[in-house]
Amino acid sequence: MPNRVNRKMNQEAFRFRLRVEKAKLFSGRRDSNLEVLTLTAGAAAEDHAPLVHDQFVAVRTHKIHGEKLKLIDAALRRLDEGTFGKCEDCGRPIALKRLEAIPWASRCVPCQERTVDSAAAEEVEEHFKMIA
Ligand SMILES: [Zn+2]
Repeated sequence: MPNRVNRKMNQEAFRFRLRVEKAKLFSGRRDSNLEVLTLTAGAAAEDHAPLVHDQFVAVRTHKIHGEKLKLIDAALRRLDEGTFGKCEDCGRPIALKRLEAIPWASRCVPCQERTVDSAAAEEVEEHFKMIA
């Protein structure tokens, strides 16, 4: 069953890539850690603006890293459970090209686009509720 073997090899390749991505997140976190958050205390007033910007970037990066880490962990779990590469919405296989670009993708392109649309629609609705 060459197909089966290929698929298994792909899965191991994806597992490896996910682990590399995860390791990168952790090493990045050490470089751009949140030390910058403690820096304003002793800084001169004119230095505050760039520091506040750095803090904003650090917090945002930290948050994005956290979210990516969650996605990677979920993908590794799917590899263990044997559901990796299957769309979590429609159950159809996710295109290999998409997985190669985004190994932690949990949805096929049409489902992802639907999700983005509905999330955006909800946001707009929330906005109108707020100003109504
Ligand atoms: Zn789907």
